[in-house]
Amino acid sequence: MPAAALVGGDEDTGYRAAMTSLARGRVHISGLAVGSAQRALDESVRHAAVTTQGSTPIGDFQLVQAHLADMQTGIMAGRALARDAAAKYVSGEDRRISPSVAKLYCTEMVGQVADKAVQIHGGSGYMREMTVERIYRDVRLLRLYEGTSEIQRLIIGGGLVREAKRALK
Ligand SMILES: Cc1cc2nc3c(=O)[nH]c(=O)nc-3n(C[C@H](O)[C@H](O)[C@H](O)COP(=O)(O)OP(=O)(O)OC[C@H]3O[C@@H](n4cnc5c(N)ncnc54)[C@H](O)[C@@H]3O)c2cc1C
Repeated sequence: MPAAALVGGDEDTGYRAAMTSLARGRVHISGLAVGSAQRALDESVRHAAVTTQGSTPIGDFQLVQAHLADMQTGIMAGRALARDAAAKYVSGEDRRISPSVAKLYCTEMVGQVADKAVQIHGGSGYMREMTVERIYRDVRLLRLYEGTSEIQRLIIGGGLVREAKRALK
């Protein structure tokens, strides 16, 4: 390939630009995952408060409360990670490992949160008209594009080992 046909004139420059843009996308997707998870939780809390089984609101059942607690915990942890990764991306402190950590955690988290949201909604959560059904379907993509969860693990694990080797030199 002639240099004139390469971004930046060599293979390294273009590759680095592509990797940096992927890292930025991963921070963005982390935020998308946290926002989607928050909406799934909001819908679930509302549903649990107003929907009764017998005459008891399902939100009074402790097993339903446990689902809500796990959802809230995952969302708060994911939001903190996404903010941390965004700050490190903007400052330039870390544009490699933190974006992958945030994407891996937040996209796996939203998958679990969406699944619990459907569970709390019962059979109605499986219906196309319901917001949580849409979220459940949509967020499945987040673990695939801009690098699958497996690829994020390779970036994180490989990056840690590379850093350790560099420190030993
Ligand atoms: C809706 C949507 C929008 C998209 N938008 C874009 C876009 O705008 N730009 C763009 O470039 N791409 C886009 N993609 C493509 C997306 O990035 C790829 O689908 C994704 O990276 C996975 O690649 P693949 O489909 O080739 O699967 P594969 O790479 O074949 O992966 C299949 C499975 O093998 C695993 N795997 C692959 N390699 C390894 C490995 N080395 N070690 C361990 N496991 C591995 C994967 O994790 C996965 O589980 C989009 C995809 C979708 C579904």
